[in-house]
Amino acid sequence: LFVEAPLSAGMAVALTRDQTHYLASVMRAAVGELVLLFNGRDGEWLARIAALAKAGAALVPESQTRPQAPEPDLWLLAAPLKKDRTDLVVEKAAELGVSRLWPVFTRRTNAGRVNADRLHAHLVEAAEQCERLTVPDLAEPAALDKVLAGWPAERVLLFLDEGGGGVPLAEVLNGLSGQKLALLVGPEGGFDGEERRLIASRPFARAVGLGPRILRAETAAIAALAVVQALNGD
Ligand code: SAM
Repeated sequence: LFVEAPLSAGMAVALTRDQTHYLASVMRAAVGELVLLFNGRDGEWLARIAALAKAGAALVPESQTRPQAPEPDLWLLAAPLKKDRTDLVVEKAAELGVSRLWPVFTRRTNAGRVNADRLHAHLVEAAEQCERLTVPDLAEPAALDKVLAGWPAERVLLFLDEGGGGVPLAEVLNGLSGQKLALLVGPEGGFDGEERRLIASRPFARAVGLGPRILRAETAAIAALAVVQALNGD
């Protein structure tokens, strides 16, 4: 389970109401049992359930099972899609090692607003499920031009271009080993001409392709992340 509190031997940690419900009603756990905890900073700990009531639970960390280790530094910038498709992208992004998820509004983005609490909850759930020791950071949703204007120059922005103009992603990645990377995926309707020109004009951006077929936005995001993971091995 993911908790915000520091983790160290003997220091009790309180669970939220939802986590307590999960533990008691879904996992059917009881006082005295052991649960794995992580907080993104102190590694993974085996913690004993010291108290379990309807309103909350207290767990006491006993021993560290894994130290905090470096994780990939990979950003995914994705235009919000319909709810269930965004949920899929969020879940797979966490599983495939994304360190920052950044919802980006483009001209053809149909989704009106982003529910950050919901996305964060999905990120936590996915991180717990795949046993990573961090929860990806959820960046403040922003318009594409603003994102490009404030871009950190040292990070390469790999713009997923369905138009056939992109160099195959794997080929581009071969020349970028050790660099900080970000992937940018468009909405259901793709990027418009002006957005393509704007992105292409930035020195840090590279257009990349994922083959000749037009993929669903969520497929493109997941496929691109899988390629990065396959080549980087982490
Ligand atoms: N209309 C479909 C949908 O509803 O999902 C296809 C959308 S496609 C235009 C959405 C985004 O996926 C594009 O903007 C691009 O970032 C990415 N994409 C799709 N196919 C791709 C390909 N073959 N190569 C690179 N990127 C691709």
